[in-house]
Amino acid sequence: MVHDCIFCQIVRGEAPAEYIYKNDSLVVFKDIHPHAPVHLLIVPRKHIRSINNIDDEDDGIVSEMIRAGKMMAKEKGIAETGYKLLFNVERGGGQVIFHLHLHLLGGWK
Ligand code: 5GP
Ligand code: ZN
Repeated sequence: MVHDCIFCQIVRGEAPAEYIYKNDSLVVFKDIHPHAPVHLLIVPRKHIRSINNIDDEDDGIVSEMIRAGKMMAKEKGIAETGYKLLFNVERGGGQVIFHLHLHLLGGWK
């Protein structure tokens, strides 16, 4: 099923983004409105609405996203100073893009 959500379009390379990393299952790109000196979004290629919609077959992608966040933090030089990994879940949790994503935030002085 082809989704036309903005993150699906970015994942497919049909909308522009500042890509940082890509593999077969996820892509990482810069948040367009950063809330921290380093603000990346780790996004699975598969369209999943939110953490609420993770089923058994998606468990692997969630751990892969967390591992990618850890790897990106190291590459950006913020692993030791510290960072946040954040899932916003549904509107009350601050989610505005309904395609699963993990925020990596850090780099504060
Ligand atoms: P949420 O609040 O859904 O967890 O976070 C969505 C994030 O996606 C926001 O921080 C927002 O700035 C970012 N965002 C929304 N649209 C785009 C876009 O078209 N490109 C990029 N790179 N980031 C986006
Ligand atoms: Zn999508």
